[in-house]
Amino acid sequence: MPKLLHDLVSASADRHPTATAVVMRDRRLTYRQLDDAATRLAHCLRDAGCRDGDRVGLMLPKSPDAVVAMLGVLKARCLYVPIDVQNPAPRAARIVDACRPRVLLAAKPAGTLLENVRAVSEAARAAAVGWLEGDAPAEIAPAFGRDDVDARPATPLDLPGAPQANAHILFTSGSTGLPKGVVIPHAAAVTFVEWATDYFGYQPGDRVSGHAPFHFDLSTFDIYGALSTGAELHLVPPELNLLPAKLAAFIREHELTQWFSVPSVMNFMARMDAVKPNDFPSLTRVLWCGEVLPTPALIHWMERLPHVRFTNLYGPTEATIASSFYTVPSVPADPALPIPIGTPCAGERMFVLDDAGRPAPAGEIGHLFIAGAGLADGYWEDPEKTAAAFVPAADGDGLMYRTGDLAKRGEDGLIHFVGRADTQIKSRGYRIELGEIEAALGAVERLKEYAVVAVDRDAFEGATICCAYAPNEGTELPPAELRTLLAARLPGYMLPTRWAVMDPLPKNANGKIDRRRLQDETFATPAAGRGAA
Ligand code: AMP
Repeated sequence: MPKLLHDLVSASADRHPTATAVVMRDRRLTYRQLDDAATRLAHCLRDAGCRDGDRVGLMLPKSPDAVVAMLGVLKARCLYVPIDVQNPAPRAARIVDACRPRVLLAAKPAGTLLENVRAVSEAARAAAVGWLEGDAPAEIAPAFGRDDVDARPATPLDLPGAPQANAHILFTSGSTGLPKGVVIPHAAAVTFVEWATDYFGYQPGDRVSGHAPFHFDLSTFDIYGALSTGAELHLVPPELNLLPAKLAAFIREHELTQWFSVPSVMNFMARMDAVKPNDFPSLTRVLWCGEVLPTPALIHWMERLPHVRFTNLYGPTEATIASSFYTVPSVPADPALPIPIGTPCAGERMFVLDDAGRPAPAGEIGHLFIAGAGLADGYWEDPEKTAAAFVPAADGDGLMYRTGDLAKRGEDGLIHFVGRADTQIKSRGYRIELGEIEAALGAVERLKEYAVVAVDRDAFEGATICCAYAPNEGTELPPAELRTLLAARLPGYMLPTRWAVMDPLPKNANGKIDRRRLQDETFATPAAGRGAA
């Protein structure tokens, strides 16, 4: 019988019923409370018509109750689909249309979003609504509410047949404008969680940060790493995300033993000098994943926290949380040398291949592929994209995922990340396809031509998104107005921050927009291309 994520948590509840499981602001759940609440919700979901393999959309703010919801969905043998409540309605609707949930679980601050999504999405109107906190908007008649959930017994569900293999779907930015749903099997997440909790030496009572938003796969590790080991999960309120001093205070006050975030956050904290010498005496490990952590920022952290172990984790959502790791042995001597992404985690294999699909010799740049236990079950209902990205493995054993990353293997066998082979970028830790931003620009009728490029220079939050455009003849479209139009279609983190109005846009010899010139000339210096916003 395969191990299931929620069973790991139930086993912890049996071992540590009264221990704290998850905390955020003034809400704290013990393991028993967490597991029982999830069981009650699972009963409600089955009564609302959920059957094995159905999807349940989560339009919930980050909170202990959102963790209950995930576990409840899994116990009902369904897949949960976290939907960022910061999404504008059209984008959230595209996700709902794609996954056609049986139930949408929502709570107070997401009322307007849910109403707006229902206005444009038939799939959203067809879904039953479970309303978990506060009053539901008048137009929505929920199938069940908080009182109905609380009234259920916490007796285990007695479900016949085999449990489902897939646990959740995480939607990431798609280059055509449609978010792509990555389908994650229980086994893929369990494999990483078991390796990582063993490697990092998780203990009951550990106090682990939950910084990542729940639609981002790093949160899968926060949640199941902590809750499978009897540790405490301390959810970082999203409003602290960009406040380095408050994040540092959070680590101190909660006496965290582990901090895990995207590098932009650590970089930001280093730049603002939020970490003091010998700060955070309880902290034993700091992990990062999702993008490059600049070596000077790491040196800053390591010099201040000599008692802490620092580990770089690398991996795409399609290979579940992380696929390789590198624990930095000592403070790097050379700030110009990037930190390796290391070696594969247990159960994973990585290949650096040349253009012909042969192993690239040590030191030479090639395409990075990942195979092994962490592979996703492909893209939700998209066999074409799945077949293009998940190809027969180089060693003949199953499939491997084409990451789109460029990498090289050192003589010592360590893998080094070099960059991207396409236009996917990271900005403030968010994975963004520039094509998704261009698709949103395509819907603006007053534009003659446009292009979006990213520049890396002098931006400690990762890449800076830059937009060059020409309005239609005789049309005025200042950047501030274009930004507002885009904000109705894209989440805030995808909005360009630098603008250039130019007519025509530069072209290369083939007559295509010359993106390199935009990067190297138009947006070359921080002062160039400054506009609204
Ligand atoms: P996501 O699916 O959001 O986890 O994004 C995956 C992509 O983020 C990878 O394909 C890489 O381009 C990048 N990435 C993830 N981890 C690292 C890392 N430790 N160092 C450099 N880039 C990373």
